[in-house]
Parts: sequence; structure tokens; C-alpha cells
Amino acid sequence: MDVIALPVLDEQGTFLELLGVSRDITERKRTALELQQARADAEAANRALLAANRALERLASTDGLTGLWNRRELDERVRREIDRADRYGDDLSLVLYDIDHFKTINDRFGHPAGDRVLVELGRRLRSQLRESDGLGRWGGEEFLVLMPHSSGEEARRLAEKLRRLVAETPVEDVGTVTASFGVAQRRPQEPAEAWFRRVDGALYRAKQAGRNRVELDPEPPAG
Ligand code: GH3
Ligand code: MG
Ligand code: MG
Repeated sequence: MDVIALPVLDEQGTFLELLGVSRDITERKRTALELQQARADAEAANRALLAANRALERLASTDGLTGLWNRRELDERVRREIDRADRYGDDLSLVLYDIDHFKTINDRFGHPAGDRVLVELGRRLRSQLRESDGLGRWGGEEFLVLMPHSSGEEARRLAEKLRRLVAETPVEDVGTVTASFGVAQRRPQEPAEAWFRRVDGALYRAKQAGRNRVELDPEPPAG
């Protein structure tokens, strides 16, 4: 109830009576409460939507098995770093590696064991990279490290460290696993396709030369 009360007095100021008006404000109170509740509901829905969006973004950019960047995210990051390198003339290098005789691992230990190798090596190598070095699954048992601000020689040194990290610690229930690495520094203004062909070629040579090794593309970076 909303109550207004006025005392009525005589000339001497003696209280005579109380004049009052009271109104039922149940509806008004209910509406205000409903409005408050609706606002709280909308805020909660908004928070849930933001969280769902973040989860979706994560899902869209990561590989389901390893949790590393997926091909799509790698493509996007490569495009962005190429733009940046063209603008500022920064060094930019790629490391592409492929697990050796992975088909044999699957054949001997089963596909789930092969999956475990991919997860374990992804985790092991990720922990050794700088925050700025992007590691992603390029496809199958092939991985890519995108290295901004790194020369081919610096990338080669990192690839060598990663190679040892793979080869020197056996994977549980599978044993020693090795990988071969190709490295190429991007030449100024070089199109992505040409750069990837060079890193692919370097990886191919690492395989040809006996696997478990790093090959740096010899092409000089000066264009
Ligand atoms: P190389 O040393 O020349 O690279 O030999 P390789 O056996 O590793 O190469 P190949 O390309 O013949 O085999 C790759 C295998 O990787 C074949 C495919 O079944 C397997 N593979 C691809 N993706 C996955 C995956 O997600 N999980 C598992 N377990 N195996 C995969
Ligand atoms: Mg392969
Ligand atoms: Mg392989």
C-alpha cells in the first residue's frame, strides 16, 4: 500500500483527526520486480552467449586431437604474418616436420597408439616454443611452426632442438619416435605458395637423406 496521511488540527493546534488516502500498489511493485528479473535474465543469457562464442572460436581454430592450431588457423596466421613481414621487413621462417614411418607405428601398435604419439609430441614440443612461435597441425602427422622475427638459421636451430626433443625421449608403450624437419626463411615479397614449396622441398630432402634430421632450404633470403 502507498499511504498519504495528514493530521487535521483546530485553531489551537489540537489534533482532531487524520485524513488519509491509501492506494493498492501491488501491480506497480510486481511490474518493477518482473522488470528487475527480466534484466537479470538477459544479463545471464548474454554472459552465456559470450562464453559460447569463445568456446566456438576455440573449437574453430584448434585441432580436435592435439589441441594445437588447426590448418585453418595456421592459414590465417601465416597470412597475417606475411602482411606484417611485408610491411615492416621482419624475418619470417617456417618449420615443417613430419613423423617418420608413422604408418608403421599405426600398423604395429594400433591407430589409438598413433593418436597418443601425435598428442604427446604436440604437448612436448608446444612447451618448448616461445609464445610467439605458432605451432599447428598441418594435416595427418605433419606439423608446422610459424616463426615471426626469426631467420632461417634461427629456425634451423629451433628445429634441431625439436628434433632432439622428439627422438631422445621414447613415447610410452611405443618406444622411440623420430621426425624429419624442413626449414625455410621467407624471401621478401615471396608468395606463400612458393615459400611453402621450398619448406616442403627441404622436408623432402630430410626424408631422402635418411630421416630424423633437419634440412634448411639453401635459397638465400635476400631477394
Ligand atoms: P615417412 O617417414 O615417409 O613420413 O613415412 P610415414 O609412414 O610417416 O608416411 P605416410 O604418409 O606413408 O603415412 C602417414 C600415416 O599417418 C598414414 C595415416 O594413416 C597416418 N595418420 C594420419 N593422420 C592420423 C591420425 O590422426 N591418427 C593416426 N593414428 N594416424 C594418422
Ligand atoms: Mg606425412
Ligand atoms: Mg610421416
